[in-house]
Amino acid sequence: MASERPIYLDYGATTPVDPRVVQAMLPWLSEHFGNPASGSHAWGWEAEEAVEQARRQVAALIGAQARDIVWTSGATESNNLALKGVAHSYQDKGRHLVTVKTEHKAVLDTMHALQGEGFEVTYLDVLPNGLVDIDAFAAALRPDTIVASVMAVNNEIGVVQDLQALGSLCRERGVIFHVDAAQATGKVALDMQAMPIDLMSLASHKTYGPKGIGALYVGRKPRVRVQAQIHGGGQERGMRSGTLATHQIVGMGKAFALAQDEMAQDSAHARALQQRLLTGLQALEPIVINGDLVQRVPHNLNISVPYVEGEALLAGLPELALSSGSACTSASLEPSHVLRALGRSDALAHSTLRITFGRFTTEADIDRALACMQRCVARLRAISPLPELQVQP
Ligand SMILES: *Cc1c(COP(=O)(O)O)cnc(C)c1O
Repeated sequence: MASERPIYLDYGATTPVDPRVVQAMLPWLSEHFGNPASGSHAWGWEAEEAVEQARRQVAALIGAQARDIVWTSGATESNNLALKGVAHSYQDKGRHLVTVKTEHKAVLDTMHALQGEGFEVTYLDVLPNGLVDIDAFAAALRPDTIVASVMAVNNEIGVVQDLQALGSLCRERGVIFHVDAAQATGKVALDMQAMPIDLMSLASHKTYGPKGIGALYVGRKPRVRVQAQIHGGGQERGMRSGTLATHQIVGMGKAFALAQDEMAQDSAHARALQQRLLTGLQALEPIVINGDLVQRVPHNLNISVPYVEGEALLAGLPELALSSGSACTSASLEPSHVLRALGRSDALAHSTLRITFGRFTTEADIDRALACMQRCVARLRAISPLPELQVQP
């Protein structure tokens, strides 16, 4: 039993690579190894063709044109390219940027870096349900604001922001709107033709594709100028140099094509699992569910468990692969900045489980996870009822 792998409930950190994606990638690692920029022979031409097909597949999922897609190494790089690229292009127009306290570190730390260059950043609070207050957002936009950045789906609590309303405000004020959609692809409908979004960061490995590849959507209506952050051979129309990773790109394209074909099915599956989990979690009462339950992707439940000590909770669930916050911050002892922004105490933020699941999670996985959580929480509450770990009002 000891050698058995824990049940994987950490899809928010990364998803399994779909076996159909692996199959699509393999030939581009083995026989078709050409450099897509080699324009003088067939090895290059076939690789370029594969890259362009993947570009169309990625664009199709978000209702964009293939030429609007710039390949990057992942959503972290896309966020850096979008925010630094726009800040550097438009600094003569203004030096103010707007974002939200619950954003991913790849946005927040990029904003901090820009502050170091002399830009001014407003970090907005969220409502207790994790959603952006539209009025507060409108009030934060100033004549010298050049870009606002709001994520589509939060990686810790799964809430879905109202991109239509936020983007419309940006359009009215002439502010560029950037969206980190790393957790959104294949989960919520994204249509760049219809939505007021100028820049969108995409990741492959949260949507059943390989790690180390991502993209930035750069809109043309209106045209957005993005200054390159990586210089070299001039690939991706000069916006992002470096030899394209054909196999990774093919994998992301296949993953996004599958996401488009199977979004309805994946969502229904996740909804059924989320409902099963919610029903079973009643046995753990009292618990606190973090983030709005309606404006939320069905692939996520984030719960705080009062009257148990945080470290003991995760340590007491060795049968489950899950985290208390995001993968990026779980190595530190800092409580999640997202839960703090929701107003949770440090103690309650520590005794939090982010349960994320998806295409390959089964009902049996959920039932086994529930049994483990019930056993662990009952034991911890019996041996150590810490009175200071109270439910927050
Ligand atoms: C995972 C994630 C990122 C980082 O993406 P990488 O492709 O791993 O660099 C950025 N933003 C959000 C919301 C994420 O969930």
